[in-house]
Amino acid sequence: MIQTSNSEKLFQKAKEFFPGGVNSPVRAFKSVGGTPIFIKKGSGSHIWDEDNNEFIDYCGSWGPLILGHANQTVLSKVNETMQNGTSFGAPTKLENELANLILSNNPYINKIRFVSSGTEAVMSAIRVARGFTNRSKILKFEGCYHGHADSLLVKAGSGLVTFGNSSSAGVPDSFVNETITVQLNNKEAVLKAFETYKNEIACVIIEPVPANNGLLLQGKEFLTFLRDICTSNKTLLIFDEVISGFRIGFTGAAGFYNIQPDIITYGKIIGGGFPVGAYGANVEIMNCVSPEGNVYQAGTLSGNPVAMTAGIAQLTQCLHPNFYKELEDKTNYLIEGILKNNSFPLLKIFKLGSIFWLAFSNKDKINNADDIDANSMQYFKTLHYELLNNGVYLGPSGYEVGFVSAAHTIQDLDKTILAFKNAINKLKLN
Ligand SMILES: *Cc1c(COP(=O)(O)O)cnc(C)c1O
Repeated sequence: MIQTSNSEKLFQKAKEFFPGGVNSPVRAFKSVGGTPIFIKKGSGSHIWDEDNNEFIDYCGSWGPLILGHANQTVLSKVNETMQNGTSFGAPTKLENELANLILSNNPYINKIRFVSSGTEAVMSAIRVARGFTNRSKILKFEGCYHGHADSLLVKAGSGLVTFGNSSSAGVPDSFVNETITVQLNNKEAVLKAFETYKNEIACVIIEPVPANNGLLLQGKEFLTFLRDICTSNKTLLIFDEVISGFRIGFTGAAGFYNIQPDIITYGKIIGGGFPVGAYGANVEIMNCVSPEGNVYQAGTLSGNPVAMTAGIAQLTQCLHPNFYKELEDKTNYLIEGILKNNSFPLLKIFKLGSIFWLAFSNKDKINNADDIDANSMQYFKTLHYELLNNGVYLGPSGYEVGFVSAAHTIQDLDKTILAFKNAINKLKLN
């Protein structure tokens, strides 16, 4: 058993300071039990906690760290930028540089606006969609998480499901009434919503690779159907690519499925480990945004030079030829290795690119939230605990996905495969 006494002490103190001892709910280990591990440092694919335990990390700060921790190029560029000051509230050329890097390598958007989080990106994109269409209703899918903005905390992802709430207190009914929620992968439900609310739906928002409530992969056909129904109803299609953007390829899910959404939101990887989000669209839609247009959206630290620098340094490395292919090869190696030794038939691994999800199910396909059996989370709880004891760190919820980074080595993957073998043996005893 690993030592956790320092983390335990820190968590006791943290509970005096913060609700539940954390600054974001899933960190609290509530769904896997025990005490959150307090991290002291990270390097490449490894993290060390305050009790000096070392782990191979597959959380990657929940997705942003596609190059692993403390990437030397990112750090030295950030350090250089910081020497000249950290924020001006005035334009810098670094914003142009990051925008150019993205726009010249991504044909799905022509103009972009930087914000400071994924939540902010989505919140702004929805406001733009409403402003552009002059309509108020939005349609989202059960099990898709789009950040914690009021009108989107309706049947959202893991943090909420894990705690058994389908929605949040403090969100007025009048907001929720503007949000239509339907099942993923369910065309009839979408058709019905468009029939019922004809000419009222400003946008359909979806995680094209739903990865916040398990990995609920959608067929290209369903996404194409959404594209078509939006076009014929003059409704905007928003791809929330805060996780999938720059993760399953530089052009994200739009590129992977070759579907042109009307607005795309980004976060996580785009900031190289710093707080950055963005939304982009064609010129006509983006020109609705203030000060060009009448949709207001602003931010004191938007386009922050330090964060822009980290984003440039990280995305530049993502653009290297074969970057995504190598990442996917590693992920396949890991998954095949785990499954080869798998003696627990309920354990399934779903994946896309370098995103993977461990599910405990009889089903061979899980593509909507209702297909996940809440009782199966007991298995994840055991697995998570045993993996920690075998030096592997996964995000502390069975509804969360894991990420392989460019820093993971074959030795890391082999160690992880062995750790899984040991952990799965414990699962069988339970
Ligand atoms: C993480 C995430 C968000 C929220 O981003 P924050 O930076 O946590 O505000 C929104 N949408 C998706 C798809 C996400 O994965």
